[in-house]
Amino acid sequence: QFARPVRFLMGAAQIEQLPPDDLPEVAFAGRSNVGKSSLINALVGQNHLARASNEPGRTREVNFFVLEEKLRLVDLPGYGWARASKTTVKKFQNLGRDYLRGRPSLKRAYLLIDARHGLKSVDNEPMDALDLAAVSYQIILTKADKIKPAELEKVVAASQNAIKKRPAAHPLVIATSSEKGLGIPELRAEIMQVC
Ligand code: GDP
Repeated sequence: QFARPVRFLMGAAQIEQLPPDDLPEVAFAGRSNVGKSSLINALVGQNHLARASNEPGRTREVNFFVLEEKLRLVDLPGYGWARASKTTVKKFQNLGRDYLRGRPSLKRAYLLIDARHGLKSVDNEPMDALDLAAVSYQIILTKADKIKPAELEKVVAASQNAIKKRPAAHPLVIATSSEKGLGIPELRAEIMQVC
């Protein structure tokens, strides 16, 4: 567990509404339904902090949480939301992308990838934005409990290979399961090191 409860700071629907850039931040990005809310809730040990998605309205905002008054956890809008209109999709993808590209306090991004699917072309956009901004990012495979260990190993290796081709070095891919707690303490420890 983190030493103190994590508190919700605010949600921003537009880039102008972001809080002042005065604390280090780590951000979580991923396709809608990748398990982002579940992962954030598992990390902080608070069940309803990040709402489970399927609530398109809220997931279009950038949500800020404060960890021990020294680090912010940033929940970015899920991308690739199939049911939203094209313009809506663009709008919140732009918000996520603008955040990733232009936030000086962003120290680390976590790119969540469903372990069953691996990296898809839609995941290139956040990686391109982060490469441009020279922000280090880590691939976090989610829902690892849903596939067999041998398959998981293959997806880890394939994802690792894919990020090796990217311009900068990034931390190793890790596999997690919010359901089973796999990889959660490791990720928590890494986040504490960013503080
Ligand atoms: P978000 O849209 O990325 O915030 O995704 P959610 O956290 O709401 O999760 C989407 C769905 O995947 C929900 O039905 C979750 O219960 C399920 N889910 C999330 N994490 C896991 C996991 O680690 N294991 C399993 N089996 N299901 C998960």
